[in-house]
Amino acid sequence: MRFATIPSETGTILCPEPLAQSPNQLLQSIGNISQLPHPPINESFRYTSQLHQFLLGKHLLLDELPFPIGQIYEHYLNGLIIFEKGITTNGRQFYCQRCGNDELNLFASFDCFRCKEQCVYCRNCIMMGRVSQCTPLLRWTRPEFSWKQKNNQILKWEGKLSQLQAIASQRISEVIDLPQELLIWAVCGAGKTEILFEGIEKALHQGKRVCLATPRTDVVTELRPRFESAFPNVGVQAIYGGHSDLSHSSQLILSTTHQLFRFKEAFDLMIVDEVDAFPYSYDRTLQFAVAKASKTNRTMIYLTATPSHSMLKRVKKTELEVVHISKRYHGYPLPVPEFVWCSNWMKFLKKGLMTKVVLDWIEDRLERKRKTFVFVPTVQVARQVYALFEKSESVDFVHAEDPNRNEKIQKFRKGETMMLITTTILERGVTVPEIDVGVFGADHENFSSNALVQIAGRAGRSIEDPYGEVVYFHYGKTNAMVSARDTILEHNKRAGQPSL
Ligand SMILES: [Zn+2]
Ligand SMILES: [Zn+2]
Repeated sequence: MRFATIPSETGTILCPEPLAQSPNQLLQSIGNISQLPHPPINESFRYTSQLHQFLLGKHLLLDELPFPIGQIYEHYLNGLIIFEKGITTNGRQFYCQRCGNDELNLFASFDCFRCKEQCVYCRNCIMMGRVSQCTPLLRWTRPEFSWKQKNNQILKWEGKLSQLQAIASQRISEVIDLPQELLIWAVCGAGKTEILFEGIEKALHQGKRVCLATPRTDVVTELRPRFESAFPNVGVQAIYGGHSDLSHSSQLILSTTHQLFRFKEAFDLMIVDEVDAFPYSYDRTLQFAVAKASKTNRTMIYLTATPSHSMLKRVKKTELEVVHISKRYHGYPLPVPEFVWCSNWMKFLKKGLMTKVVLDWIEDRLERKRKTFVFVPTVQVARQVYALFEKSESVDFVHAEDPNRNEKIQKFRKGETMMLITTTILERGVTVPEIDVGVFGADHENFSSNALVQIAGRAGRSIEDPYGEVVYFHYGKTNAMVSARDTILEHNKRAGQPSL
């Protein structure tokens, strides 16, 4: 590469020759340069601290930076900002540097105004702005930011951990000094958020940057106030779809896994909550996002009540360390699901009928004014079951596309409705005390073993009512049902508790 000498505020600097004249030249030619040049760092350059703070640890499009292009370009020429190709190719295959997508059918091309060519772009991460062959991704190089907290007492949480929680908490504190992975396998209702606090406090003290990522937006919004009150002086930042305020950077970030496409090598401690939840477990690019956002020598902690097969395989091969929390924070065993045969429920439903055994169970609860979740396998079944109870004001139904979803859940929480018919969207995350759980059509293929464990985990969460009832209504037991019950029994056994 030939370099030209160009003048700058701090004297003259060296710049790769073809790019010396203007930022536009760089942008126009990105698609055709095999490797983008990185000018050497000019140690005496006085960089803009707002730009430093904004871009540090991120991986952004030019459009996402609220700074003049000239200013950004000057930082590039002085080696403090790196321009990376958004899409790379080996001629036949394309690769998106932001989301890791390499599936040909997830790329498309368009007549590009900027590079005046047919420009290939990534469809997989298009919702975050288009990354094409002539689009650079920008990140900050040096210097690092000193995150060290001045305040000695960062953590303001005065709760008490159970014995098992305390063991997990201690192990987390130990591993944050190590570049390793740790799985916390905590049963539903174990209280897994609190066990993170001490480890996070230690990491913050050490000046490390911490991210808690989760596939689910509602987990971010639920955790935010809890983290804000536990770490009141840290400035916890929550990032999720529609609320991606990137204007400042915090040492402690709560984010959806999707939003991590916008980070690169940012975090020393990465915690992935609900690691087996959809879509993270199915979407390779989200796993890529988590890895990309983490530093090479990061500590990675996975939290879940229902680890995936692949994760359990790694535990078996001792590739992945695991800490079990088999007991709920209140100390009572997990409710064990009962299997109840309910004939060919689908056939009945088609005629607008429901098997007596299910009807009796539901009516008994409505009469006793007992809050009840009725899980069903599909939206269509939800509608059909709801049609049978439509006249009752205490019954409602909800599904993923329901625009009034949150409202309906709130009404149910408050006791304004007593029975909520739902698809698997509420299998996790929603905690309602004093509740029974029925799974209607538990033999349906939409109910995986892990989904059934999570659903059973909705019952008995509060100390006032630790024995909620769980029934799987079925037309033939499935492996998923049996495996779910076995898993629950296994947890109770491990916790040294009789299963009732
Ligand atoms: Zn992409
Ligand atoms: Zn282009």
